[in-house]
Amino acid sequence: MTECLFCKIFRGEVESRKVYEDDTNIAILDINPRMHECQVLVIPKTHVEQFYELNDEELASLFKAVKEVALIIKKPTIRNSFHSSAEEWVLPTPTL
Ligand SMILES: [Zn+2]
Repeated sequence: MTECLFCKIFRGEVESRKVYEDDTNIAILDINPRMHECQVLVIPKTHVEQFYELNDEELASLFKAVKEVALIIKKPTIRNSFHSSAEEWVLPTPTL
């Protein structure tokens, strides 16, 4: 099995600030954001080099997770939390 940083993150071997998780995906705050200080990475738990290596079901799940995260961070109260205290920021658990 090939290892990468993201595999270690969702196994809990590398610390991260998780903002979302479902059965097949995880979303974390980017530690080196380029666009915004609270940039979020949505990552499939299946190790792949490129997203198109995911099967159709995994790919659909990934994009559903992207939508869930976008809807969560779009909420003004959550956005304000990002700006005021990214260190303490906790998202509500989504209902799937
Ligand atoms: Zn990996």
